[in-house]
Amino acid sequence: MGILFNNWIKRTKDLQTDVYYINFDDMSGGKDANIRRLIEYMRWNMLAIDDELAEMRQAISWKPWQHDKPYADREEIVKEAVDVLHFVANIIVAAGGTDEMLDKFYIEKMERNKQRQLDGYKVKEIGVKCALCARAIDDVGRGASPDMCAKCLPKEVDGNA
Ligand SMILES: [Zn+2]
Repeated sequence: MGILFNNWIKRTKDLQTDVYYINFDDMSGGKDANIRRLIEYMRWNMLAIDDELAEMRQAISWKPWQHDKPYADREEIVKEAVDVLHFVANIIVAAGGTDEMLDKFYIEKMERNKQRQLDGYKVKEIGVKCALCARAIDDVGRGASPDMCAKCLPKEVDGNA
């Protein structure tokens, strides 16, 4: 059981399994067929997140060309965020995530974000984003070259690191 995400992922997995008959075992491991099922499940969950975000946008007067009195339906915003979170949790379950992993990664990321602000985060500086995949290098780890992440250019490559 996690601290921040107290059984959120476990309860999501139970719901998806018991009510929607989703078989997460068929999406696990390295078999191509299982990876394809994982991708398909993720695809429609990501599309659903897009839909829920569109619904959230309807709760606020976000369009600069809109001349209504500004409005923001706060309760509706929270309810739509809940809908987004349901689909996010489904994806985490399908990817094999647990409440404990989520707690660890989430808290680590909060600390990293705080540190980035303290250090003056500039994405255009060399060594901040990976030159190949554009991921934040402090998220992935630095690779053998200062401008590459550890996934694109692992340090152990051909023993020269
Ligand atoms: Zn990279």
